[in-house]
Amino acid sequence: MNTKEIILLGGTGVYVDFSKRPVKCRSCNAEIRFGLTDNNKFIPIEEVEEGVYQSHFASCPDATKFRRKTMSRERQCDEIARNEQELSKL
Ligand SMILES: [Zn+2]
Repeated sequence: MNTKEIILLGGTGVYVDFSKRPVKCRSCNAEIRFGLTDNNKFIPIEEVEEGVYQSHFASCPDATKFRRKTMSRERQCDEIARNEQELSKL
């Protein structure tokens, strides 16, 4: 694990696991990562400059559609997080 807290443009703090590879947005194919917010929600983020991140919702050309799609993606991430927790107990 290589989790760091980063502050997005706009001031939201999220925890990002940088040991995971970035993924591609299903809508616009941009390279994104998932950040975990204080509310335990995963949101897609993107690097706009080195070390500077913003929510991908701010720039995705298909944000409304994407938002609906991420519901299932969030659940997938939850599953992964839970699996990792289970594994770390072993
Ligand atoms: Zn996108």
